[in-house]
This record gives sequence, structure tokens and C-alpha cells, in this order.
Amino acid sequence: MKKIILTGDRPTGKLHVGHYVGSLRRRVELQNSGKYDEIYIMIADAQALTDNADNPEKVRQNIIEVALDYMSCGLDPEKSTLFIQSQIPELCELTCYYMNLVTVSRLQRNPTVKTEIKMRNFETSIPVGFFTYPISQASDITAFKATTVPAGEDQMPMVEQTKEIVHKFNNVYGETLVDPDILLPTNQACMRLPGIDGKAKMSKSLGNCIYLSDAPDVIKKKIMSMYTDPEHVKVTDPGKIEGNTVFTYLDAFCKPEQFERYLPEYANLDELKAHYQRGGLGDVKVKKFLNCVLEEELSPIRAKRKELEKDIPYIYDVLKKGSIKAREKAAETLNDVKNAMKINYFDDMELIKAQSEKYKV
Ligand code: ATP
Ligand code: MG
Repeated sequence: MKKIILTGDRPTGKLHVGHYVGSLRRRVELQNSGKYDEIYIMIADAQALTDNADNPEKVRQNIIEVALDYMSCGLDPEKSTLFIQSQIPELCELTCYYMNLVTVSRLQRNPTVKTEIKMRNFETSIPVGFFTYPISQASDITAFKATTVPAGEDQMPMVEQTKEIVHKFNNVYGETLVDPDILLPTNQACMRLPGIDGKAKMSKSLGNCIYLSDAPDVIKKKIMSMYTDPEHVKVTDPGKIEGNTVFTYLDAFCKPEQFERYLPEYANLDELKAHYQRGGLGDVKVKKFLNCVLEEELSPIRAKRKELEKDIPYIYDVLKKGSIKAREKAAETLNDVKNAMKINYFDDMELIKAQSEKYKV
């Protein structure tokens, strides 16, 4: 069986370091590993509209931002198909058929959607499109016959929902759809990177992000304002590591060789943590180290973005070509689905023959 990747992001803002450690960095590695037959990366504008119906301009403006972020991190249109969700109408058609296989109570149990409903104060007025977006995500994944979905932890319930739809569909209509698996980050800190406020996950909708395209002085300011341990007041106070965002970011980003470069008095992150816990290590020193670590990772991405920004029509062209290619693949799957469901009346000669027999006098 072919190994196929499908993953994507909502164009609700520029991409942040949470996206990077949760999915983007891995995608680029997988792309360059040569182990996958097909890779589809989707800008999920239709999904973004499910909770931004009154602000389509925000979604429209952010498509190019997400595409620039993708390519500056190393997603390569020669190796991966970059496309825009709304340009593939076959996805809506699949959603329509999958909706019959899912109950309202099953959707209500989705923990990620539950959290997002609360976050958006949707409790009494949930748009139907938003409520059912896990079904549309199942269409995205299955349309490309994806075997692998590299994503952060918040996407686990979506992939579970997709698997249920696949099993149900294949049971009712015969083996047609491919059962996908989520590929989570191996590093615990990367599963759900917290925001700089230490609250919940870093999320475009919460405004607690460090963006991949932020300028160095902006990043420095954000790091200096980051949530640490509120009880670590004096340098000599013992500090906590758990829930300390600066250390979570170091867990996500720091490489052993960076100690020699920036903090040679410590051999590794464990030693730095131990000193902080003992007392005698100030937040500012740790934050300055984090700034160096992040800068090392982000400066090449920022430089590549500057280059790409010089030719915006080329980026749109990449998305256009990618969307044409993606649509061909989705149309094939839709055809398989309709054949399996036997709603291919005009191609079904046996049906036409049988119906003629029935009415013969
Ligand atoms: P929005 O607030 O509009 O939902 P978002 O910041 O949650 O935006 P998405 O586009 O929903 O971003 O997520 C895209 C991908 O990035 C998903 O695979 C998701 O798991 C991953 N991701 C997003 N935020 C984080 C995070 N803080 N840590 C790890 N992975 C993340
Ligand atoms: Mg999200």
C-alpha cells in the first residue's frame, strides 16, 4: 500500500512555533526522508470559515501567510502538493455522505471541539458547520487516501472520528476507504506547546503566540514577558520546572550542543533544570538562553521568507497547481465512494438492464 500524508492548517493567522514543533518541523523531515509516496498539505480555509463566517477577509488574507510560512520552513512544492481546501468541491460531497454515518451525540463527545466551543463562547449558538467540522476533516483525510496524519495532540479526536467513519463506511459499503493513523510528536513538550502566557495551548485564536515570522526584537520581548514560576521571586528562591513555560520551550527546542555555545557552565538541560530547582538561577538568564536557542532555529526560516515574499504571484501559482493536482486525487476517491454506495446510476449497466426487465410486458 502507498504511504500517503495529509495534514494542514487553518488560515486564521500566521503560523506560530506551536505549529512548528507540533507538526510543521516533522512534515519537512518526512518530506525529505523519501519514505512517502505522496504528500498533501492543505490550507484549510473552508474549515476556518466555520468559525469566521462573519470575517472571510481574515481567512482570505491569511492564505498567503500560511503558504509563505510553509515554504520558508522547507515544504517544497516539487515534493509536496500544497493546496487550498475550498478549491476541492469533492470534499464537500464526501462530507455530505459521511454525515449519515455519524450521530449528533458522537460529535458532542469530541473533547477538542468541546474546548473550542467554550473558548469561542459558542455554547448557545454553535454554527452547524463548526459543530460538524470533524466530519469534514474525515473527508480531507480520506479523500487523499492518507495513511499518516502528522499533527499535534489536539487532532487525536479528529483522527479517531475519521477512523470510525472509515470502519463504518467499509462495513456498510465494502472495503473502499483507507484507515489513517495520527503521527504525534515524539517529544512530550511538542504535543501541545503552551502559549507565552502559560495558559492552554499556543493558539492563533488566543493571541499568546510567538510567530515564525516575528522580528528578533519582538521575539525577545515576548520571551522576556513569558510565564515562569510565580513563586520564584528572588534569584536564590528554588524554582519549579513543571508548568514553567520557559523550560517547556527549552524541552521543545534546545539541542545539547547549544550549551557549549551559549551556556558552557552547564553540560545539558538536566543540569540547568537542577540548578533552577535548587535556587540560585534567575529567570532572565534562562530566558536569554531560550532567546538564543529560538533565534538559531528561526533566523534561517525568517531569511527564506524574505526571499519568498519577493515573488507572491509564484506562491499563488504553486497553490493553484497544487489545488488542480489535489482535486484529481479527491475526484478519484469520490468516484470510488459513489461506486461503493451504488449511486453511480448512469454507469451501472446492470441496474438499467434489470429495471428494463422489470417493466417488460
Ligand atoms: P486556531 O486557533 O485557528 O484553531 P491553531 O493555532 O489551533 O489555530 P490549527 O490550524 O488549528 O492552529 O492547527 C494546525 C496544526 O498545528 C494541527 O496539527 C495542530 O495539532 C498543530 N498545533 C496547533 N497549535 C499547536 C500547539 N500549541 N502545540 C502543538 N501543535 C499545535
Ligand atoms: Mg486549532
